[in-house]
Amino acid sequence: MKKPEKGEIRKPTRTISGITPVAVMLPPRACEHGECVYCPNLNVPQSYTPRSPVVMRASAVNYDSYKQTQARLEAFKAMNHPTDKIEIIVMGGTFLQYSKKFQYEFIKGIYDALNNSKSKSLGEAKKKNERAKHRCVALCLETRPDACVEFIDRMREFGCTRVELGVQIIDDRIYKLVKRGHTVEDVVKATKALKDAGFKVGYHLIPGLPGSNLKKDLRLFKKIFSDEKFKPDQIKLYPCQVMPGSELENLYWNKKYKPYTKKEIEKILIQMLKIVPRYCRVMRVMREIPPEYIVAGTIHIDLRKDIEAELRKKDSKLKEIRYREIGFALREGKEIDCNLRLKITRYMASGGEEYFLEIVNKQDILFGLCRLRVVRGKAVVRELHVYGPALKLGEKGWCRSACPQLRNSGAQHTGLGKWLISEAEKIAKEKCIKKLKVISGVGVREYYKKLGYKLDKGKGGYMVKGL
Ligand code: SF4
Repeated sequence: MKKPEKGEIRKPTRTISGITPVAVMLPPRACEHGECVYCPNLNVPQSYTPRSPVVMRASAVNYDSYKQTQARLEAFKAMNHPTDKIEIIVMGGTFLQYSKKFQYEFIKGIYDALNNSKSKSLGEAKKKNERAKHRCVALCLETRPDACVEFIDRMREFGCTRVELGVQIIDDRIYKLVKRGHTVEDVVKATKALKDAGFKVGYHLIPGLPGSNLKKDLRLFKKIFSDEKFKPDQIKLYPCQVMPGSELENLYWNKKYKPYTKKEIEKILIQMLKIVPRYCRVMRVMREIPPEYIVAGTIHIDLRKDIEAELRKKDSKLKEIRYREIGFALREGKEIDCNLRLKITRYMASGGEEYFLEIVNKQDILFGLCRLRVVRGKAVVRELHVYGPALKLGEKGWCRSACPQLRNSGAQHTGLGKWLISEAEKIAKEKCIKKLKVISGVGVREYYKKLGYKLDKGKGGYMVKGL
């Protein structure tokens, strides 16, 4: 790779949302329930291909979590990205079904790499990370809905803040057909348990599964956001593709399954994106599968860009978070109105009240957000995020009323987080709640301490403040 020029950042979109994402891949392991019909079997982590960049990087170091993390930090540094605020994403299978010992060692290896020193225990590694150069501000685990509820405490012990559930579709008949091995009820229970414990919840969804069709996919997608049992905070939309070694490949060659065409995918994705409410972020559209591993289905992984460009041309605005983030508006060279205001959306989800607090301007560009959940007389902040290109710890961003000339420094580090958290505290107080709990990445604890929060001595590792 050519060295970037002074001040130049290679692939700036990587850190455009305010954090530096580091993906760490698990070693290959067969899933306990058997195989979902669409899952490829290619001797690499299940559901991935040998040519996926993250798999190639991981297999080169024998899936060692320490070495993977270290290598990614070096790569980001070489591209001139800040590496202070790291989001860890553990990918590649149902992590919580690996042996318990392996899970603890894998996570400790990640913290050790961030700390650049090996600790004796996970607890010690987490403690060190609170003040480390590379702080873990968020940690994401992917899991199945039926391997989740019983592991809530353990996930907190790992410092996890976000969980992505392989939901795919909410239909028991299709779950049977694709040999998914869990039910819609598992999705409902996992979603509630995660939200109650303060986690941010993401769903992976697959339009075009066997047994579904465009009408059904759209109807069920609408239900995900209208039925309070679901309402995820984030989604990834991965239209079904036929991959080698999967049972779906046989169905396809025997003319028992046909994936959606590119046109059909475009159509349904546009319809879906228009439905996503303002509290949800569409993290990704289409899986990055190398074309040589696609037997049938679209190979067009850049569909999102085309769809969004098309929607922008028609001036049809999306409400979902990513589309409205300040970082993307800056990238497009938009004139930014710097008069910011607070907008609060209240909605019911999984038996609790959700308050979605946003700092936006007149153009509905999003500068920061906070998710407050109130359930059974208790309040928990599930997310606090200030958007804009990632800044280094201690580096000053623009002030609330800053002029557009300062725009390159983004919205981070300007007191917006403090503003959001104080509004969340106000709401909790109005409800006569005496204590506010915040789920926090290990590396954000110092920030909350400055706001008067203390580390709860219990297992969960929450930051807590008396109101
Ligand atoms: S649960 Fe995920 S990784 Fe396991 S077989 Fe199904 S799709 Fe593949």
